[in-house]
Amino acid sequence: MNLVQEQLNEVRQKIVQACERAGRNPSEVKLIAVSKTKPVSMIEEAIACGQTVFGENKVQELCDKIPQLPANLEWHLIGHLQRNKVKYIVDKVALIHSVDTVRLAKQISQEAIKAGVTVQILLEVNVAREESKFGFMEEEVEEAVREIAAFPNIQIVGLMTIAPFVADPEENRIYFKKLHQLCVDINKKNIDNIRMSELSMGMTGDYEVAIEEGATMVRVGTGIFGTR
Ligand SMILES: *Cc1c(COP(=O)(O)O)cnc(C)c1O
Repeated sequence: MNLVQEQLNEVRQKIVQACERAGRNPSEVKLIAVSKTKPVSMIEEAIACGQTVFGENKVQELCDKIPQLPANLEWHLIGHLQRNKVKYIVDKVALIHSVDTVRLAKQISQEAIKAGVTVQILLEVNVAREESKFGFMEEEVEEAVREIAAFPNIQIVGLMTIAPFVADPEENRIYFKKLHQLCVDINKKNIDNIRMSELSMGMTGDYEVAIEEGATMVRVGTGIFGTR
């Protein structure tokens, strides 16, 4: 086994252990291997270890990598998306994690219609209210969900957050709890066509805490592929 494979297996073990602590089934947690800035050769090493789900944060890099790799992979767009780039990825990704405005959702809907697909999305929420981050404020999410729910060919399946960069992951537990609660609260409103079940939260520094708080998707880059 090479380093990528060792690290990938270590992350998998930690996911299982976090699930055990939380009384959850590991099959409820999808590991997204974040391969941004890393070469195709390293992605191939992860594939050889059974990894099929990858995350990228840039449209150009995603579009460059996809044709170089097997067609059976699942690609997730996790980074900020500009409206003029939606057309390049709408039929290539399994999930867009980073929908941060209603205008972007509308663009995705329009491009999805043209491409004849339905696109699954998450709404990015700036739970920690950091100036530097994209995403809806908590109090804006319900209204956004109501507006986006009316758009054709787009489906909101859950929420995503990027927690602050902290030394102690316990500091982020409160934000993961908040995202989980927001998801529960919005589901209770019984908005037409809306049943959110996915929580994309947790990165290399804090994915175990995120799993304890209900993450269904963790986005791990450095922990698998090394520093960027
Ligand atoms: C880069 C990135 C990650 C992975 O970060 P690591 O700390 O390397 O695990 C997760 N989510 C998003 C949105 C990212 O841009």
